[in-house]
Amino acid sequence: MDFLIYPALAADLVALAACLYFTWESKKEQEERAVKNGLILSGLCVLLGIGLFIPVIGTAVKLIFILAFGFGLSLLIPAIPNARALKGAKGYRVGNPVRFDERDTVFARYRSLVPGSDLYKTYYSDLHPEKEKQDAKRREKGFIGKPGIIDNEYQPNVAMMHAAFDIPPYLGYYAFNDPEPDAPKANLTPEKAADIVKNFALHIGADLVGICKIDPDLVYSHRGETHYGKVEGWGKEIKDLPPYAVVFLTEMNHSHVISAPHTPTVAESAHLYARGAYIGTLLARWFAHMGYKGVAEHTRNYNIPLPPLAADAGLGEVGRQGYLVAPNMGARSRIFAVLTDMPLAVDSPISLGVEEFCKACKKCADSCPSKSIPQGEKTVCNGFSKWKLDEDACYDFWSKVGTDCSICMAICPFSRPDTLLHKIVRKFVAKSRVAQIVFPHVDNFLYGKKWRPKHTASWLNYRKELDKNEIY
Ligand code: SF4
Ligand code: SF4
Repeated sequence: MDFLIYPALAADLVALAACLYFTWESKKEQEERAVKNGLILSGLCVLLGIGLFIPVIGTAVKLIFILAFGFGLSLLIPAIPNARALKGAKGYRVGNPVRFDERDTVFARYRSLVPGSDLYKTYYSDLHPEKEKQDAKRREKGFIGKPGIIDNEYQPNVAMMHAAFDIPPYLGYYAFNDPEPDAPKANLTPEKAADIVKNFALHIGADLVGICKIDPDLVYSHRGETHYGKVEGWGKEIKDLPPYAVVFLTEMNHSHVISAPHTPTVAESAHLYARGAYIGTLLARWFAHMGYKGVAEHTRNYNIPLPPLAADAGLGEVGRQGYLVAPNMGARSRIFAVLTDMPLAVDSPISLGVEEFCKACKKCADSCPSKSIPQGEKTVCNGFSKWKLDEDACYDFWSKVGTDCSICMAICPFSRPDTLLHKIVRKFVAKSRVAQIVFPHVDNFLYGKKWRPKHTASWLNYRKELDKNEIY
């Protein structure tokens, strides 16, 4: 086997370079366990390289390289694309779908059901008496408790959050737009119209854009929010929406997200809710001036839950934690949409290997402080197969820390920065069956399964030192 010595040495040097690169990237990402493991693996590569030239153990080392080479080849076995993911939300339909009622969302219950009001009586007497006690407790504490309480209400970050959340209410007045009376219907092919609106959205601040037709089964069944005092709309069936959705993502800054569940992350969520409302409103107004309807979907107006809509528009797959997992940014995004009746060319759903990866990964479920994310298989909910989040338990944790937590977004391996290292790994997870099976375990071994908040940019720093023993 002497002829193998130089190929094995070359492979060893490549492996050493890969391990050192992994260590360097992990250091930048403050992944302490991964840094340690990267250094150990680098040391192992050096020892194996030396071992190649020691007669007694050289053969064993060459065998190790042959096995590693075999494993490398097995990664090239292509995965069968996930047929369910390629159908978007429809792929997960089981039996008869039941439209979700916006009145049942935690947000609508908290904001619309004022104690003593008629809506309060209707909801808790006629519809869901079982929710009254728990909701009353949450109301006492305030929806997310005391904003920023986990960081002693650190004023600069909490003020960033409030400032950004102040914006969508102004824009919500322009959420529903009929065609401008003096605007003729623009005469564009669906392809040309889609090209223009996508580029316009990217130009004004969206990070990823897709288009789909709206699946009526995904639309909320009844209005549950009473923004701007519109109590009369509560409980009305939501229908007659325009048929197309331009769905767009805004990417959460990695440096903010890694502080989860501390205040930089909620400051960033709020910033993106403001940005998304601005982009959505501009697009909706653009459709009106093009002679069509435009409905902006953002925090002041939702007609449809957005993660499945984004999957339909080809922007990613929905992960175990319920977030959309998108290419290049993973779960680190906020989703918005604009509905219109302008004919648009639509995109196809995509398969990134997320469902297969999530089956073994479970990092989000292991790290969730409120145990809101299921550990087991998907279950059927309203006629769709999904990992069902315990929203009440999740929001109760929000009120404990005074932020929107986001640990499950931060810990997701797909949410890591879009570096060469993670680009390569994501490519393999999307295309290789062996990678889908093995990589979640490798990831859990290299990075660990428990979340620890990391240092954020100094201008967001709410304290001087991180407590290394702190869980969150
Ligand atoms: S953390 Fe793991 S299990 Fe959770 S969504 Fe991300 S990949 Fe899936
Ligand atoms: S936001 Fe936090 S509490 Fe809610 S599901 Fe994610 S990790 Fe759990």
